Amino acid sequence: MRKIKDLDWSNLGFQYRSCDSRYVSHYKDGAWDEGALTDDPNVVINECAGVLQYCQECFEGLKAYETVNGDIVCFRPELNAKRMADTAAYLCMPPFPEDRFLTALDMVVKANLEYVPPYGSGASLYIRPYMFASGPVIGVKPSDEYMFRIIAMPVGPYFKGGFKPISIMVSDFDRAAPRGTGHIKAGLNYAMSLHAHEVAKEAGYPENMFLDPKEHRYVEETGGANFYFISADGSTFVTPKSDSILPSITRRSLVYVAEHMLGLKVEERRIELSEIGQFSECGLCGTAAVISPVGVVNDHGKDIVFGKGLEDAGPVTKKLYETLTGIQLGKIEAPCGWIHKIA
Ligand SMILES: *Cc1c(COP(=O)(O)O)cnc(C)c1O
Repeated sequence: MRKIKDLDWSNLGFQYRSCDSRYVSHYKDGAWDEGALTDDPNVVINECAGVLQYCQECFEGLKAYETVNGDIVCFRPELNAKRMADTAAYLCMPPFPEDRFLTALDMVVKANLEYVPPYGSGASLYIRPYMFASGPVIGVKPSDEYMFRIIAMPVGPYFKGGFKPISIMVSDFDRAAPRGTGHIKAGLNYAMSLHAHEVAKEAGYPENMFLDPKEHRYVEETGGANFYFISADGSTFVTPKSDSILPSITRRSLVYVAEHMLGLKVEERRIELSEIGQFSECGLCGTAAVISPVGVVNDHGKDIVFGKGLEDAGPVTKKLYETLTGIQLGKIEAPCGWIHKIA
């Protein structure tokens, strides 16, 4: 039996908690140093660091799970390594090498094995790789120095109540600009979305549905998850195609699961807000929440209701959720290369 911490695994919530160990590497004089684990949760940087002045920062999010067999695994982490390198390049930061990202990930999970929630608890070890400009800048330009870190923390479900339909509202704000940064995983997109998020919360909604920033006609995503819809006859998985949404790994995986494992048709296309009432199911997908069924979308006072609304998730959403979490927890055979075993 693996030794584990004495935590209330079923009631963790989704919040920061310091683990024993994290990985740190510094970029200076044109190169990343060797990197190492440290037990220090604090970061000391110059008062004029680029991240503090001009938000030069990006991050990733993934999870480690204990499977039914007792293995500790991550789900498709090489896609996170790749996406982070793409994001860094867009923000004029030196990408952290993808192979080193994977090695560092293994080091952090192995060093914090006692924090990986036990199989069946519904919790997981959330892993947050991130990178920021640590060198001083005052004239606007990319920094010369960066820090890459991977931290980890055990978490419960992202939304209170777990796999229960939520209601969301159509936002009057944009989360991205038409030719902006919506497609990269940068903290600045989240700073942008906080105001809209607070407005939604005030109105009683845990999330926003953002529309495309050019015409405000097509469905984009929420602040931190992509959307999918299921056609009225249950045969088709439909998900927005847009240059200003984040290419979610969960969404890309669900596209595969829908098509190759559940026999659904898949459409990746622009989706008009005015057509969503014709769908039978709606869901949010992302690493943090995996899938959150959406029961109601409130469009300026008018409720668009999917299936049984807030009462219960639809049958296809349930199937997608069971299949994806079944793959992650080793209960269903994974498509080749999806499961990265760490211990
Ligand atoms: C991280 C993120 C998602 C979800 O992506 P996953 O790879 O599935 O975790 C969706 N939208 C935004 C804006 C994100 O930052």
